[in-house]
Amino acid sequence: MLIATVRFIPFFHFHPIFWLVSLFLYFLPAFLARNKPDFISILLLNILAGWTLIGWIIALIWALTSKPQAQVPAQPPANPQSATGGYFCTACGQPCPAGARFCSACGAAQPATQR
Ligand SMILES: [Zn+2]
Repeated sequence: MLIATVRFIPFFHFHPIFWLVSLFLYFLPAFLARNKPDFISILLLNILAGWTLIGWIIALIWALTSKPQAQVPAQPPANPQSATGGYFCTACGQPCPAGARFCSACGAAQPATQR
């Protein structure tokens, strides 16, 4: 492919932008799937079968229909105050909004240090 490209340069002297756009279009399925869990599979299909057009179309459809990667819930931080902006009730353990004097779940008064 490279040899053919070099040979045809005098006849088809494409602008570098043309090659960049072509490259982007070729890897469009992988680009669309960059945040999908199937990214690696789609990228491989894109690279290995993208030149067959049908493989490229399959990769594109796969990329479009693949569900976005589920947001992995962050591990609850050691300090729950930073997670919700509030705190957890000292009596019942339910999360309470920041600054609340009494627990919204059980009504227990919260110590000042918790607020
Ligand atoms: Zn409570």
